Amino acid sequence: MSGVQLERIQVLNREAEQPGRFVLVWMQQAQRVAFNHALTHAVELANLRGLPVAVLVGITDRYPGANRRHYAFMAEGLADVQAGLEKLGIPLWVVAGSPERAVLAAAREAALVVTDCGYTRIQKTWRAKAAVALNCPLIQVESDVVVPLEVASEKREYAAYTLRRKIHRNLPRFMRPVKPLRPKKDGLGLAAPRPMLPVEPEAFLAVLALDDSVSPVAKWRGGERAAQKRLRQFMDEGLADYAERRNDPNADALSGLSPYLHFGQISALQAALWAAERGGDGAQAFLEELVVRRELAMNFVHFTPDYDRYSALPDWARLTLAQHARDPRTHAYSLADWEAGRTHDPYFNAAQLEMVRSGKMHGYMRMYWGKKILEWSRSPERAFEIALYLNDKYELDGRDPNGYTGVAWCFGLHDRAWAERPVFGKIRYMNDKGLRRKFDADAYVRRIATLENETHMR
Ligand code: FAD
Repeated sequence: MSGVQLERIQVLNREAEQPGRFVLVWMQQAQRVAFNHALTHAVELANLRGLPVAVLVGITDRYPGANRRHYAFMAEGLADVQAGLEKLGIPLWVVAGSPERAVLAAAREAALVVTDCGYTRIQKTWRAKAAVALNCPLIQVESDVVVPLEVASEKREYAAYTLRRKIHRNLPRFMRPVKPLRPKKDGLGLAAPRPMLPVEPEAFLAVLALDDSVSPVAKWRGGERAAQKRLRQFMDEGLADYAERRNDPNADALSGLSPYLHFGQISALQAALWAAERGGDGAQAFLEELVVRRELAMNFVHFTPDYDRYSALPDWARLTLAQHARDPRTHAYSLADWEAGRTHDPYFNAAQLEMVRSGKMHGYMRMYWGKKILEWSRSPERAFEIALYLNDKYELDGRDPNGYTGVAWCFGLHDRAWAERPVFGKIRYMNDKGLRRKFDADAYVRRIATLENETHMR
């Protein structure tokens, strides 16, 4: 058995299987070879039919909100995918165009198509359109969560405490490694669809018409190899102290996995299995973030059609913010001020610059950062828009269910009511005194000031 549980698998259309020449994997979300349930399931199906396997990735240069920084990270990942697949005798076809159209062209001679799963609007739309247009089965395999979303819960959950026990109940069944399988038939000689994009990162980036407003970051190298290295390093050097040190932005105590998780370059299941094997308080705290909090975010996005809009906030939160919408603001900054990190608050400015310069703001500062945008914007609606815009533009892990949920959390999602105060109403408040109590916030400001602009053009 390969270890792909039936609950991860869903057939998205009713087309009959074709007498095709190969099984096509449409790899869009899970851009990796290791711990990839969709790839493993496809190889299993191909071996049963005596067919080779080919992998397709469709690349649009118009992915909403994505800029050169994001594409550069993804490009490094595709090069690793190609190298990993080649060892298995599987070709990688990277094709330009909207993915749901690229898959149609590539699947003409396929017996069936196996794809991975994503929860955002565009990811669901692509798969729904392809399911209708394909004339062979489209099978979706959920590989980027530990517990399949609808197994854990059939509705939008109220908060972490309502989802936690549902996740934990299912862990024994789903915390199992997935075995990498090798196709019995080599597919490297299969005729590739045309025109293909080059996989070499520089050449790949050169042919796309990208939004150049944000340049790539040197610190974060994309791809499965870098992700595996980071995971190993975190297990050896970070996990044991994670519970104690994760809220100190000066401690370099986080896993750094979020960009890799976002691009599907590492599996959350693999990281969870490795952490669980190590055990201890650090592992418990890490699993709470990686599994419960992350899958709560996926749950929110999956069950909330307007997940990236102010209207998605809970009623109580919108009500209390509306009651305080006319409260005088001590400051009211414009988007340009926020973006340049040009406020009176050195901690906000440092957090903003950390994100702009390095592509990843520390998790603890993200909460403070979002709260300050709420406090010093003209209206809560505008604050919400600004926070999401900046998060998605600069964070390598942006445009992710965690980002939509993280921003909404600053405005009350998955939280409870607190003591009422100006502007925030009953939304949880954070201030700079709190930061200074928790860690050396001034050392953080000094460190970010010396952080070189790590961006460079590749
Ligand atoms: P670690 O602490 O090492 O955590 C490991 C993994 O657990 C993370 O990679 C992530 O998948 C998960 N995780 C950790 N904290 C959270 C959390 N609060 N909610 C859900 N999952 C969590 N995360 C993103 O991936 N993309 C975003 O765009 C994003 N935007 C955010 C915006 C705001 C305003 C807030 C408050 C949080 C946001 N987060 C986002 C959640 C969290 O801050 C990041 O996941 C975390 O800082 C990533 O760094 P890491 O992988 O080193 O974290």
